[in-house]
Amino acid sequence: MAQQDDIAFVGEHRTITVEQGRFCVARCSCGWRGPARRARSLARTDAESHTTPPLA
Ligand SMILES: [Zn+2]
Repeated sequence: MAQQDDIAFVGEHRTITVEQGRFCVARCSCGWRGPARRARSLARTDAESHTTPPLA
């Protein structure tokens, strides 16, 4: 049943992109924050790489 806790924890990662002036930053509900990007698409890529573990 401990695995269900892990799944719930992963669900806490809700990312958004926030515009800061000319830059766009990816943010997560867990407190994580990505680097400032010039393009929103790059910020979204940061958010996806954060929520998706590089296991593949
Ligand atoms: Zn997160």
